[in-house]
Amino acid sequence: MIFVDEALIRVKAGDGGDGSVAFRREKFVPRGGPAGGSGGKGGDIILMADPSVRTLVDHHLQGTYTAESGQKGRGKNQHGRDGKDLIIKVPPGTVAYDGRTGKLLADLVRPGQWIRIARGGRGGRGNASFATPVRQTPVFAEKGEPGEERILRLELKLLADVGLIGFPNVGKSTLISRISAAKPKIADYPFTTLIPNLGTVKVDNFSFVVADLPGLIEGAHKGAGLGHQFLRHAERTRLLVHLLDMDPNNGRDPLEDRQKINRELELFSQKLSRTPQLIAANKVDLPGADRKLNRCLPALRSQSLEVYPISALTGLGLTELVLAIARFLREAMKEVETGVPEQLPEPEREEAPLTVTPVGDGAWKVEGGGVERLAALQNANHPQAKQEIRARLERRGVLKSLRALGARPGCCVIVGDVEVILDRL
Ligand code: GDP
Ligand code: MG
Repeated sequence: MIFVDEALIRVKAGDGGDGSVAFRREKFVPRGGPAGGSGGKGGDIILMADPSVRTLVDHHLQGTYTAESGQKGRGKNQHGRDGKDLIIKVPPGTVAYDGRTGKLLADLVRPGQWIRIARGGRGGRGNASFATPVRQTPVFAEKGEPGEERILRLELKLLADVGLIGFPNVGKSTLISRISAAKPKIADYPFTTLIPNLGTVKVDNFSFVVADLPGLIEGAHKGAGLGHQFLRHAERTRLLVHLLDMDPNNGRDPLEDRQKINRELELFSQKLSRTPQLIAANKVDLPGADRKLNRCLPALRSQSLEVYPISALTGLGLTELVLAIARFLREAMKEVETGVPEQLPEPEREEAPLTVTPVGDGAWKVEGGGVERLAALQNANHPQAKQEIRARLERRGVLKSLRALGARPGCCVIVGDVEVILDRL
């Protein structure tokens, strides 16, 4: 496979909602039992292979995708609503890499395959969750966890949906450059000569790939060496647009030209010669072209061919042609099954290892291993919250490391944006 379509996007899963600090209101009791609800979970970012999507051009233009955040918890033990997941549809065959590390994250081959590519943050627990027999009125709650964020590089081995054919100088190159929204990238340097022969065309929310087949074949002969690989690729096109030259002064007969090209096509590939064709009658901007076109029409129509008069130069009739192609492809796509949903294993969470580093003046910085999450509490400076953080650090083995590193009671531990003084160790 040769042609590569690429998009660089940023995805940000929804943040978890903060847990709430609230108390029941009871008559004659200044502070009733804890009643702060938990925050909702943030929405995930899902990548899904959907055959109705043909290219990555829309994603490249979009840039950033953000899933909905979870709502905050509220009093009376009311939990916040979860954020909605965001589904990003990509063409089957899309490979997703981490844009920072280059690591392969997902290979979405079949329609229906999907992967959770960025996880929404967990909602923070409200203070009601922290009540114990000895701590009946906790005054702290957890903050919501931030949603995962990634830069993704999406890569798609392109298959051309539409092939342009026609005699030299009929206007194939001009047409491609006129209707293309973006130029696909060619994976290897030697193939750069082929770029002008490919284009991604956008129609509303639909897009497709057009290839100038003779242009590609010529490029292939110039040493790009595509051979059989190219043929297989070309044979995947669903529709051929046959360009005919309506220039009245070039001394050519469009009907004869068409037969010659069709015969060549048959020799090149039986399969391609059976691919449906549309006719684009080009250069109708030239004086006298309409008369030439009218002479050709009866013969073309008798073969039930749809004919679109266009001028690749002035743009006349191109909208109609592109819409007709899109209509045809959409119809052809209906027969492609959307596939059965199948979840792929999600990439492992990349977390820096837990480290404890002295930062001078008896202070220590604790980072990595998701430990910042443990300290993200509302009212973090309240003695109760500090006690909770201390217990969490103990469970994670951080106090043990501190002791081993020679930390003394009364030292200051910095976790995320919280500083805790540890009176005991
Ligand atoms: P290709 O060999 O099929 O790729 O043809 P090109 O796109 O290179 O076009 C050949 C020549 O025809 C160029 O000089 C173009 O400017 C010209 N041409 C292409 N389309 C039109 C058109 O719609 N009207 C006119 N007047 N000239 C055109
Ligand atoms: Mg050309």
